[in-house]
Amino acid sequence: MFNDGQLQRYSRQLLMSDFDIAGQEKLQAARVLIVGLGGLGSPAALYLGAAGVGCLLLADGDAVELSNLQRQIAHAESDVGSNKAHSAAHSVKALNHEVQVEVLDKYLQASDLPSLLARVDLVVDASDNYPIRFALNRACIDAAVPLVSAAAVRGEGQLSVFDPVRGGPCYRCLYPDDSSDTALSCSQSGVLAPVVGVFGSLLAMEAVKVLSGYGEPLCGSLLLLDLKTMDCRKLTLPPRENCPDCGHLHA
Ligand SMILES: [Zn+2]
Repeated sequence: MFNDGQLQRYSRQLLMSDFDIAGQEKLQAARVLIVGLGGLGSPAALYLGAAGVGCLLLADGDAVELSNLQRQIAHAESDVGSNKAHSAAHSVKALNHEVQVEVLDKYLQASDLPSLLARVDLVVDASDNYPIRFALNRACIDAAVPLVSAAAVRGEGQLSVFDPVRGGPCYRCLYPDDSSDTALSCSQSGVLAPVVGVFGSLLAMEAVKVLSGYGEPLCGSLLLLDLKTMDCRKLTLPPRENCPDCGHLHA
C-alpha cells in the first residue's frame, strides 16, 4: 500500500495503465546493486531512486575528481575528494529519502559477489573495467540474477540485458576473451557529457522493465547507438554453446 505522499510522488507512473500500482509495488520491493557510480552509474542511480526502487546498493571505491564533474551528475563540486558511492548515496537520498541506500565504498572483488548477489534482484553494471565485468557476469549466472550492462565512449555506446538462466546469452558470449583489455576508456578516448547520460538512463529503463515486468527487456539483443549520427542498430545476440560461463545452460 502507498501513502498519500507516495501516490503523489509516483503519480505519473501510476497513471500508466500498463504499469500502475502493480508495477510500482514491484519497484518498491526491489533491491538493485549498482556497480560504478561514474558517468553511467550516476543517472542510473538517480533515476532508479526517483522512480521508487526500494533499495539501492551503491558500490564504488573511487573518489570524485574535478574531471568527473563534466558527466558524473550524481556528484557536485563539494564532493571532490569524497568516495563516489557515498556522494551518489547523498544525491539519491536528497531526491527520494524513502529509498533505502547501502554504500559499498570499495572496489568489489569476485569474492565479495556471492553474498552480495544473494541479497539483490538485479545488478546494474556501470563499471569501467573488464575484470569486474567478467566477475559480475559469472556471479550473476551463479545467483540467477539479471545483469543490465552498458558501455559508452566518445559519441557512442551499447546496451544489453544478460539473463542466461532465463534464456539468451551472457556478457561473455559477447566477449569470449576474458583477458581482453582492449576496451576504450573515457579517460583515454574521451566522451561527450550527454552520451553517458543517455546510456545511464537506458540502464535505469531496462532495470525498471526487468523488475516491474513492463515492456520487453533487451534480453538476447545488443543495442548500438551512435549519438554522433543517431544511427541505431539492434543486433540479435544468440548464446554461444561453448561459452565457458553459460554454455552449461544451453546444452
Ligand atoms: Zn555466455
